[in-house]
Amino acid sequence: MLTPGLINAHTHLELSALRGKAPGGRGFVPWVEGMIGARNQLAAEQDSEAIDAGVGELLRAGTVAVGEVGNTLTPVELLASAPILGRVFHEVYGMREAGEQRLRDADAARDARRASWPDNLSYTLGPHTLYTLHSELAQELLARARGAGELTTLHLAEHPAERKFLMDGGGPFARFVESKGGNLAEFTPPALDPVRYAKELGALAQDVLLVHLADARREELDLVAEARAPVVLCPRSNLHISVKLPPLLDMLEAGLQPALGTDSLASCSSLDVLEEARTLAERFPTVPARTLIAMLTSYGAAALRLADRLGQLAPGRSPGVVAFEHDGAAPADPERFVISRAPRARNILSRPHPTIRS
Ligand SMILES: [Zn+2]
Repeated sequence: MLTPGLINAHTHLELSALRGKAPGGRGFVPWVEGMIGARNQLAAEQDSEAIDAGVGELLRAGTVAVGEVGNTLTPVELLASAPILGRVFHEVYGMREAGEQRLRDADAARDARRASWPDNLSYTLGPHTLYTLHSELAQELLARARGAGELTTLHLAEHPAERKFLMDGGGPFARFVESKGGNLAEFTPPALDPVRYAKELGALAQDVLLVHLADARREELDLVAEARAPVVLCPRSNLHISVKLPPLLDMLEAGLQPALGTDSLASCSSLDVLEEARTLAERFPTVPARTLIAMLTSYGAAALRLADRLGQLAPGRSPGVVAFEHDGAAPADPERFVISRAPRARNILSRPHPTIRS
């Protein structure tokens, strides 16, 4: 059984050394505290080795393109030598001075690599979230990407602590900011839910890839669909951190065509995006396997603005080809077979041309 190459539309390769090191199940803030604690224990060479291994894992899974988000550009040189396409989103966070400093640092890191930037990757600045970034900075990042005609990305409506912090400035995230010595006075809560706040800031749009929406409600998903914003879901990460899945049935009913991503190895056990579809297949048995395969391929390619080349086995495209081997007679339901754990091997028959510009 053949499929187009798989699209992993949301990764954080720089966190690859944290596999299994940030315990979940207690919500976002306890997870992020564990993640930061574990990250502080790591040496730089452990990071590079784990990122290198992560790139290998992506390739073996049949991944042909990634949406890679990071605070640093460490993964760039390791992705550069791999036969994979990547949209690199250089993530900025922070209130006032801290955020402005991170933006200056991001610009300097980008400038240092500009001459040697690899052909298989694009580069865009991206706002981390709307609750960890000053609204003026978020708008500046959005304006920069929009001005350049580029796709950017934003984590949105991931967990209830985000909603609470945006509504009234309180809850577990406020306590986390204070525990880190942050000044809550630098953030004025907009008293809006995450999706409506994104709309107010101009972040609900076709050029902003929205990540998660695990905590979004039906009428909020309608706003996302109305704005025709691309969406990527990371169900295994949501399960690990918050023991909650994204509202997939509501999303499909709203007309969204979500891509899938593994998120980082700090919240997910592998970089195999097919496992995201399998997880959804188990928990949402009424969703057709054809839809789940589209989420891995054509929806993913569209979300990363690579649909003219990837995501479909069709004339004029070069999407890469993945073969799923079966025993004996061909499976009666090939789409369900691909999503199931029945294939005895997954072979990568071809990969797309490794340049991001067509
Ligand atoms: Zn993420």
